[in-house]
Amino acid sequence: RSVRGHWHDRLRIGIMGGTFDPIHNGHLVAASEVAWVYDLDEVIFVPTGRPVFKLDKKVTNAEDRYLMTVIATASNPKFTVSRVDIDRPGVTYTIDTLRDIHAQYPDADLFFITGADAVAEIARWKDAASMWELAHFVAVTRPGYSSPEGSVLPAGRVDVLEIPALAISSTDVRRRAEHDEPVWYLVPDGVVQYIAKHGLYR
Ligand code: ATP
Ligand code: MG
Repeated sequence: RSVRGHWHDRLRIGIMGGTFDPIHNGHLVAASEVAWVYDLDEVIFVPTGRPVFKLDKKVTNAEDRYLMTVIATASNPKFTVSRVDIDRPGVTYTIDTLRDIHAQYPDADLFFITGADAVAEIARWKDAASMWELAHFVAVTRPGYSSPEGSVLPAGRVDVLEIPALAISSTDVRRRAEHDEPVWYLVPDGVVQYIAKHGLYR
């Protein structure tokens, strides 16, 4: 098979996990850039069920987050959305996400995409050791967060990739929506309209 002129024996699949409350253009640029640099055939966006690092916070219901993710990714032929995390009961752990996607694509090379802030937590993630067996990890730079340092990461397991900087966070989008401030161009148009139609974040 040929992707971007390179030959790969195996399918190459990116996994972009997130709360996506809501999905924004920072997520989309990160996925698009990793897909390009790593010659990925597909990027699967996986909205979390109950995010383990946000147990103390209020999170929008999973179906709204899932639908916004579908709307945001629909126009890109390489982007798909998976329900594995929202359909699995209980708290979401990345190891379970990787096991489920691996079971669906046993012959694919998996690339887990994560931001500089989230990757700092990686070593503390449940079953970190087995995660390295299941996927390559790509940490993308994110404005306002320092790039992960070699020392906190297992040697050779996580690539750090510089991407076009978008200082957008879901927290800021929610705060803007709450105060009736514009979110145009921070999130895709369909997501602006979905937020308004369903009165999210008010
Ligand atoms: P919140 O503010 O609610 O935490 P968020 O903007 O951080 O939301 P998440 O759903 O928590 O979005 O992030 C999913 C993944 O995307 C994480 O790995 C995060 O680091 C990464 N990410 C989020 N925003 C950006 C951005 N602007 N640039 C690069 N990576 C990002
Ligand atoms: Mg976050």
